[in-house]
Amino acid sequence: MPDKIQMNTPLVEIDGDEMARVMWGMVKERLLLPYIDLKTEYYDLALQKRDETEDQITIEAAEAITRYGVGVKCATITPNAARVKEYNLKQEWKSPNATIRAILDGTVFRKPILVKNIKPAVKNWKKPIIVGRHAYGDVYKNVEYRVEGPGNAELIFTNERGEEVRQTIQKFNGPGIIQGIHNLDASIKSFAEACFSYALDQKVDLWFATKDTISKTYDNNFKGIFEEIYEAKYKERFEKAGITYFYTLIDDAVARIINSEGGMLWALKNYDGDVMSDMLASAFGSLAMMTSVLVSPNGYFEYESAHGTVQKHYARYLGGEKTSTNPVAVIFAWTGALRKRGELDTIPGLEVFADKLEAAVVKTIEDGIMTGDLAKLAEPPAAKIVYTEEFIDEVASRLGEEF
Ligand code: NAP
Ligand code: MG
Repeated sequence: MPDKIQMNTPLVEIDGDEMARVMWGMVKERLLLPYIDLKTEYYDLALQKRDETEDQITIEAAEAITRYGVGVKCATITPNAARVKEYNLKQEWKSPNATIRAILDGTVFRKPILVKNIKPAVKNWKKPIIVGRHAYGDVYKNVEYRVEGPGNAELIFTNERGEEVRQTIQKFNGPGIIQGIHNLDASIKSFAEACFSYALDQKVDLWFATKDTISKTYDNNFKGIFEEIYEAKYKERFEKAGITYFYTLIDDAVARIINSEGGMLWALKNYDGDVMSDMLASAFGSLAMMTSVLVSPNGYFEYESAHGTVQKHYARYLGGEKTSTNPVAVIFAWTGALRKRGELDTIPGLEVFADKLEAAVVKTIEDGIMTGDLAKLAEPPAAKIVYTEEFIDEVASRLGEEF
């Protein structure tokens, strides 16, 4: 075994819940700690801890990322009514991802991890489709109201001088629902900047789509800001790099993406990105074969897995069963964060380690050794379907050959 790789700045390590948390521990133990003198500042976002701290721990974790620059996050439970009961919570705490994203601002880029023996469901897709998801506002920062009976709903804006603008939303004759959402030009601008520069960095076309024909102020504002920034700052650089910026309606974009070869960055509003990234992940193989990074305009990075806590597998795990849960996205969250830390602190060893670990993962799967989710999709069929721990051990042995 070589000397362990030393780190200067700690990574902000954000632990989570259920099966994702179990895999988190295994990955650290077997793949990272043997090679790296791992420095982290640890925040435990297990649902019980969030409840104990009135969710302050989530805010502290996000603030730590603003101090150190790079975080790595495990999947966490976003409580709903059932979880409030299950964990006896003080309240239905907000999604930690939404809280962290609101503090860091920025854009979430999700990119599928391609391996030779898993063919995308869409047969003409040859290259990864990267999704750039705006991570601020809209329905994730909404205000909702349940209308119990007849009445008048109005949208009122009061400016600094106290002047009011009023619009009727709906005259209700009976029960219904209302939702108020917003976004900020500053956030949309940094979303656009992040997408244009990520497309340049990866040398891929950028597509952007909204529903501006219906939402003539809200969505049209997104479209306008993208156009303005493109014309003013990126048009020439895109032309030089031989890539294009393309705007179309969201429904048209969905159809075109399906018929494409892939290989583009698809910029999407918050909700569209949430939904489309899960669809793309499944079509490319599995949610567990997707990398995800939040890039903030202030230069902060948060790496995470795109999938959730894999609750159903956890129930089986608690029942004493071994599960074949796929740890690839958890591993790639760590490699992404370690590589970025290496880049920022000029520690080439960390970057090389990240490359080698990712290569060991890909090699394991291409050798036909995989978890059950991938075995369903593998072509040729899997040589060996393994439990999570066995998969990690197979990766560890291939990684070991590299050192
Ligand atoms: P999920 O945890 O992503 O799991 C949904 C299903 O997808 C699983 O039951 C499993 O299918 C499959 N799957 C996902 N990840 C997998 C993996 N690594 N390996 C193998 N199969 C995998 O979504 P969920 O069940 O809707 O949500 C569970 C909890 O996660 C919720 O409390 C939710 O709030 C939270 N969540 C957190 C995040 C986050 O922190 N980033 C994101 C999404 C959801 P099979 O059962 O068919 O094997
Ligand atoms: Mg989602």
